[in-house]
Amino acid sequence: MTTTSDHDAFAFTDDLGPAKIVHVTERRTGLRGIVVVDNVAAGPAIGGLRFDPGVTTGVCFRLARAMTLKNAMAGLRHGGAKSGIVGDPHRPAAEKEQVIRAFASAIADLTDYIPGPDMGTNESTMAMVLDEIGRAIGLPAELGGLPLDELGATALGLDVAIEIGARHIGLDLDGARVVVQGYGNVGRPVARLLASRGCVLVATADSRGAVSDPAGLDLDALDELKATGRSVADHPATTLERDAVIDVPCDIWIPAAGPDVLRADNVDRLQARMVPQGANIPATAEAEVRLHQRGVLVLPDFVANAGGVICGAVEYANGSWDQAADQIESRVSLNTEAVLERVAAEGCRPREAALAIARTRVEAAMAVRRWT
Ligand code: NAD
Repeated sequence: MTTTSDHDAFAFTDDLGPAKIVHVTERRTGLRGIVVVDNVAAGPAIGGLRFDPGVTTGVCFRLARAMTLKNAMAGLRHGGAKSGIVGDPHRPAAEKEQVIRAFASAIADLTDYIPGPDMGTNESTMAMVLDEIGRAIGLPAELGGLPLDELGATALGLDVAIEIGARHIGLDLDGARVVVQGYGNVGRPVARLLASRGCVLVATADSRGAVSDPAGLDLDALDELKATGRSVADHPATTLERDAVIDVPCDIWIPAAGPDVLRADNVDRLQARMVPQGANIPATAEAEVRLHQRGVLVLPDFVANAGGVICGAVEYANGSWDQAADQIESRVSLNTEAVLERVAAEGCRPREAALAIARTRVEAAMAVRRWT
């Protein structure tokens, strides 16, 4: 087993971090792993372990920084980090387990990093990590975990942020038309929560296709399709090209899939009043500027989708789902209000307001620590 620091890592360094970039390799399992611990001023850093062929040090750094900001915004006593195992997560289970265990044991000494689930990993992976190093979040319920996807932790926060955003732009949620791009662990439960407020899901997409009905899609039918491994495009309504969900007129357009789906080349097709970001980094900087110029309210990812990590932090502190739900609702609503008040006072974009608030919190924590 070798553990080496990557000197190119200094290319990423700024006044917040990263505190550590570590690469781990192991010959027998073929492990190639990356850990970026960005900032630990507020406490040990929480961030997901991504198992993906395309994960790089740069991707881990961007996501680790996003976690620093998200955790600070949420008022958690945790800094931000991200890690990655480079490779295909769909390999035979025994082989995958060996690589994960090799990765976990290689990072045992990085005690200021607490891994959680991310793309290509899940609660079983976290049980393996816990076995090896005694720390992980997003654990199975049998080990004290709060199954955040099953409980809809991120959707719960997103729903609260949407309610506040709607109030700020004078949008009545009863009858509001919603599009969800990415009908998964975030998109599916948020569609349900919004339906209970009277919203109508007029279109949705998954990786295989999209479907639309201006009168509203049947959520039970969509859930049944997803539960049986099919696509939302098998719903008996009008099917669309997957990426045509961007053209469906609506009040609330929710990105809940991958990064950079709204870009300078397509953002002007969007016909919505609000874009609450369920996904991480779903819009490029140019696209967000354009939306702001057009008067579309963007609720930034690290404010609106913090429910999952808040749930993880409560789990780490041995809390219950009721405590997690209370904290998600109160923190996401306070932060969304704070961001929108700053936007109103300064005329800045919501992301600029959110960045200023989060950065101030990280810097305040750094100011009272010895190593800053
Ligand atoms: P998921 O895999 O459960 O769901 C993603 C959905 O998006 C799937 O239905 C998939 O088919 C669909 N999809 C993929 N590519 C698509 C495309 N090009 N067009 C349309 N649909 C597409 O993932 P998730 O946990 O719901 O996460 C979604 C996003 O939210 C990710 O960006 C993730 O980082 C972010 N996020 C998730 C959580 C969480 O608690 N799960 C927390 C914070 C942020």
